[in-house]
Amino acid sequence: MTSHPRLFSPYDEPMWSSIAAREMRLQRCAGCSAFRYPPGPACPRCLGVEASWEPIAGSGRVLSWTTFHRQYLSAYPPPHSVVAVKLDEGPIMIGSVKPEHVAALAVDRAVRMVYVAHPDGYLLPAFEPA
Ligand SMILES: [Zn+2]
Repeated sequence: MTSHPRLFSPYDEPMWSSIAAREMRLQRCAGCSAFRYPPGPACPRCLGVEASWEPIAGSGRVLSWTTFHRQYLSAYPPPHSVVAVKLDEGPIMIGSVKPEHVAALAVDRAVRMVYVAHPDGYLLPAFEPA
C-alpha cells in the first residue's frame, strides 16, 4: 500500500496519488485553463468549479529559498533547506532541496522536480538544479 501524507484538504487525494506514481498532477480549470495549487474547490482566477487533473512538467524557476537550522520534524534533520519555485504551469510550490544543491540555487535558476522518499515513509516532491 502506498503511504500518503495525511490529507490537508478533501481535494488533495488525486494529487498525492499522482505523486506516489511519480507523475505529479495538478487541477486545471476547465473554464480558464489555469493550473492551481494547492488543490481546492474552485479556481482562484475565475471561480470556476470544473477542473481536470493534468500532469505537470516538473520544471520551474527559483523564487527564493531558506535553510532551517533548527529541527521541527523528525524526518527533516537540520540543516533542512526548502525552495519556493514558480512552476512553468504558473503555480508556486515549496519543496525540499538536498544540502549539496543549495549552493547552486539562485533567483530565476531553472530547477526540476524530483521525488524523494523520506524516512517517515512518504514520497514527496523536491527540487534540484535543472
Ligand atoms: Zn479558472
